[in-house]
Amino acid sequence: MSEVVETDVLIVGDGIAGMSCALSLAEKGIKPLVIGRGKGNTYLSQGGIAAAVTEDDSPKLHALDTVKAGRLLNDPDAVSCITFDGPRAISKLLEWGVPFDRAEDFFELTVEAAHSRRRIFKVKDYTGKAVYEALHREAEKRGIPVKRGELTELYTDENQRATAALIKTEKDYLVVNFKIAVLATGGAASLYPRSSNISSNPQRVGGDAIGIALRAGAEIRDAEFVQFHPTVLAGTGFLISEAVRGEGAILINSEGKRFVDELAPRDEVSRAIYAQLIEGKRVFLDFRPLIAKGIKIEERFPQIWGILRDNGYNPYEQPIPVEPAAHYFIGGVAVDTFGRTSVENLYAVGECANTGFHGANRLASNSLLEGAVMGLRAADDIAIKLPFKKGKRFVPSTVGQITTPPEGWFENNLTRLKNLLWRGAGIVRNGRDLKETFNRLGFLLQEAEKYFPHPEGRKLFDLLLVARAIVLGALKRKESRGCHFRSDYPKEREPFRSVRYSFTLEDLV
Ligand SMILES: Cc1cc2nc3c(=O)[nH]c(=O)nc-3n(C[C@H](O)[C@H](O)[C@H](O)COP(=O)(O)OP(=O)(O)OC[C@H]3O[C@@H](n4cnc5c(N)ncnc54)[C@H](O)[C@@H]3O)c2cc1C
Repeated sequence: MSEVVETDVLIVGDGIAGMSCALSLAEKGIKPLVIGRGKGNTYLSQGGIAAAVTEDDSPKLHALDTVKAGRLLNDPDAVSCITFDGPRAISKLLEWGVPFDRAEDFFELTVEAAHSRRRIFKVKDYTGKAVYEALHREAEKRGIPVKRGELTELYTDENQRATAALIKTEKDYLVVNFKIAVLATGGAASLYPRSSNISSNPQRVGGDAIGIALRAGAEIRDAEFVQFHPTVLAGTGFLISEAVRGEGAILINSEGKRFVDELAPRDEVSRAIYAQLIEGKRVFLDFRPLIAKGIKIEERFPQIWGILRDNGYNPYEQPIPVEPAAHYFIGGVAVDTFGRTSVENLYAVGECANTGFHGANRLASNSLLEGAVMGLRAADDIAIKLPFKKGKRFVPSTVGQITTPPEGWFENNLTRLKNLLWRGAGIVRNGRDLKETFNRLGFLLQEAEKYFPHPEGRKLFDLLLVARAIVLGALKRKESRGCHFRSDYPKEREPFRSVRYSFTLEDLV
């Protein structure tokens, strides 16, 4: 029999989105329970967080840059809410102790990719780690419980309202009865074999919680948009930020030739590198132009320098082999501008959610911003609603006979899923391969169903739901837009400019 606990608000995920929501609730006198599987992408992020705060900038300009990068598919309400709330999020992060870099007379703001102004707040090249640590310190100070555990199930009552969650802990299971739950479980880019989400535990931010939400009645939206980062240290999944190219590093192939404008949008650079790799060439990031400018790599990019050195590379002496990798999941649980899903009492914030802020492509440094702002906005809405929520004592019925899958079953099938996605719905897609991939993932889904109540069967099933949503969205979107590229429809097509695909569980099984 599992232990049953009760809380007003359960937050699943302890990255920037979950912790901003938790701290903001605590400031309003509501103490949530936070549960997570451990450090996610927030901890790994390098570049920074965007917000329009200077005299020559404005949220409107920030919004324009965001919509330009998103190829006009962005949700206008989400874009204005998030860009206008940017300064508020920065001021909260400062209050909570994030030590953003300062110059003599102001913060040391940088500019990245298609931002038209210097508006990126950073902490050297480890902004995410600094944010993560500051928010966790603040939560500890305020006595917010942050526990280790894995969400495995969400329960709804007879009126389809979310009421309870089943959490797998190290030793047992925990049933959490809540009035409101917030998913802040991060993205799903690690569904691809080449993913810059790699950390000590690559499946920690796996996207399974999005599948769980789908089974509880939520919808997944914009799933075809998976952003690939062009420069990951080959064979490792460690990302080398575009700030390096911004400072002058160039891309060369095995013949020593340049083949792309290094500062072109991420998706263009990724496709150019991918084309070289398909031709059997290798691709390298050459730091020499940056070194010639007098930039000291170990000072300007201490984290990148450390990782390169740990992997046996010295950028002063050799070009560094790179490859593109799945980096960011634009799709997610469909939510409104307060993080409300279509299931009553269930919110989703951060990378696991889809507000429509990014449109068809994400502008660098806009995702930490979205996580922080949406955490705050969800907390605002929860504080208004919570006094009127009753909550229900819910104990899930015991599951009957559970069939255990054979050893290695989960890992083997996860590898099959990842390879199918990379080959069939990767950087360059086409209708024929997408159709075949959707069907093949369907066979895997039947395999997962055989073991469904078992945690491994359940997890594979949930991951497959997200994978199938990516493929189905890509199949339906018969055009190329932002980070979604189809070789059979290589151009943007006007009729799709106002079309966004949402799927329910029924569409995916
Ligand atoms: C290498 C790298 C560099 C990046 N650099 C930048 C950058 O410079 N600027 C920027 O804006 N963005 C950047 N990003 C993107 C950004 O880091 C993420 O979009 C953002 O941090 C997501 O925050 P989050 O709070 O939504 O999720 P995360 O920080 O990923 O946290 C997810 C949490 O959910 C938990 N979790 C997941 N599933 C479950 C489950 N089933 N049960 C329990 N817990 C679960 C995880 O353990 C974790 O605690 C980068 C991403 C990567 C990978």
